[in-house]
Amino acid sequence: MNQYDYIIVGSGIAGLYTALLAKEQGSVLIITKGSIDDCNTKYAQGGIAAAIDKNDSPELHFRDTIAAGDGLCDEETVRILVNEAPDRITDLVNLGVPFDTLDGEIALAREAAHSMPRILHAGGDATGKHIEVTLSNRVRSFKIQVLEDCLATDILVEKGAVKGVKALDCRTGSIEKFSCRFLILATGGAGQLYKFNTNADVATGDGIALAFNAGAEIVDMEFFQFHPTALRLPGVTPFLISEAVRGEGGILRNVEGYRFMPDYTPKGELAPRDVVARSILYEMKKTGSDRVFIDVTHLPPRVTTTRFPHIYQFCLNHGLDIIKGLVPVAPAAHYMMGGIKTNSWGETNIAGLFATGETACTGVHGANRLASNSLLEVLVFSKRTMEKTRKGSKARVPTTGEGTEIHHSLGQRQVPKAVSAPSLSALQQLHWDKVGIIRNKESLTEAADVLAAWQHLLPQPTDRPSYELNNLILTGRLVTEAALLREESRGAHFRSDFPQSSPKWQHHIVFTPK
Ligand SMILES: Cc1cc2nc3c(=O)[nH]c(=O)nc-3n(C[C@H](O)[C@H](O)[C@H](O)COP(=O)(O)OP(=O)(O)OC[C@H]3O[C@@H](n4cnc5c(N)ncnc54)[C@H](O)[C@@H]3O)c2cc1C
Repeated sequence: MNQYDYIIVGSGIAGLYTALLAKEQGSVLIITKGSIDDCNTKYAQGGIAAAIDKNDSPELHFRDTIAAGDGLCDEETVRILVNEAPDRITDLVNLGVPFDTLDGEIALAREAAHSMPRILHAGGDATGKHIEVTLSNRVRSFKIQVLEDCLATDILVEKGAVKGVKALDCRTGSIEKFSCRFLILATGGAGQLYKFNTNADVATGDGIALAFNAGAEIVDMEFFQFHPTALRLPGVTPFLISEAVRGEGGILRNVEGYRFMPDYTPKGELAPRDVVARSILYEMKKTGSDRVFIDVTHLPPRVTTTRFPHIYQFCLNHGLDIIKGLVPVAPAAHYMMGGIKTNSWGETNIAGLFATGETACTGVHGANRLASNSLLEVLVFSKRTMEKTRKGSKARVPTTGEGTEIHHSLGQRQVPKAVSAPSLSALQQLHWDKVGIIRNKESLTEAADVLAAWQHLLPQPTDRPSYELNNLILTGRLVTEAALLREESRGAHFRSDFPQSSPKWQHHIVFTPK
């Protein structure tokens, strides 16, 4: 069995940035299930939030993040996030990420729910692509070992400590074992749970399933963020129309051309994502349409083409000139706030197992992520993970005694009389219909029963699609069961049968394996 100090699963910003730090501290292997740049990172458009302007401050960034998180952010980790942000931006600049500049200074944009312009971007709206390309070039130039088409299938744990990982060679179908001192899961999100989503194909919740099956705790899974505005064109996978478009003055109109957002909230188009997503959904229902529109025709054409060159070009390639016409959009699943429970050093409850990036839950996003805080979270907590492992951490995080957590395990469920065969499309439809932007006890119970039945029906996985479906179904169960337990509405979680938030629910739902 090959032995490494660090095995990192995933090659988005979390995996690559962590690997670049880890190489200073020992031998490193990156395992990634597709090619190196198959990830969500390269699709990030808006940018990275950091209080680097002289008129801004970590305190203001802190307040905005806490307000978005709707009572469930971990204040200590949010402080760390906002205070360490400027240094991590410097790291990215030093690594060569070409942030856009204005008059010789890094240019800063404003996004919804940020009280200050504090979003750094690169290539206008191609921030993620520039980050991914820069970091992957660095990884190549440092000759860090990367195994592509290699899917992690199981975590090897002995006496409560990580020993390594099992992985499938997706090309040959063979399984190999790798051993390591530190295993770092950087496997990203689970947007593929939903029929309409903005995520890459690789976002199938693998890290959640791997960690849970190994005995790790999973938290806050009911909070799944839906982006209000993904392009809705027949035959085109939902493509994100960034928050920043509304930040620059884009207006939402229904199919009748009416500007509806001021009817729902005084903040109009700049309200938090969950409010805009629900308002769009109501408006679509009211008008009997599957879409609304973003209008940027009133903006100077140069603003549109220079601030959003990527969006402009993508739409043009699909026959839409957004300078002249309206852009059809609808909400789509976008970001998983919950994940593998970590402390502020990336540690899980299993010695030697760390998680970073979208698969981890550090507590900074609470019930709703503030736009552009996720890339930042990756940088801040990956760096701290490496600091911790440098000091030789193998300690476990305490799992009980925190007053703000309720622990559950996945119980048995009533098997529905007739249940269809599990498939990716059936799962995505089920989640969209029953565990979507607006849920209730009836829809969630129905989904939970079907998911549990599917889990029993699934054959032993043998290839990448079957492993991914297994992982999605387990991840989907955790999302659904958590959403069923939380009998209130908060942040991104909206229950039509409990439309208000309740102080008695100001705690986290943690799933612990039996
Ligand atoms: C369209 C879009 C726009 C966004 N815009 C922004 C933005 O402007 N600002 C912002 O802060 N955030 C944004 N986000 C969110 C942000 O991009 C992601 O949260 C972040 O990139 C996640 O990085 P990651 O490294 O954790 O995951 P990813 O970049 O998704 O990488 C995960 C990696 O893990 C690999 N992997 C998964 N499972 C396995 C397995 N079993 N074995 C081996 N490898 C595996 C994948 O192949 C991939 O390489 C956006 C997201 C999307 C989808």
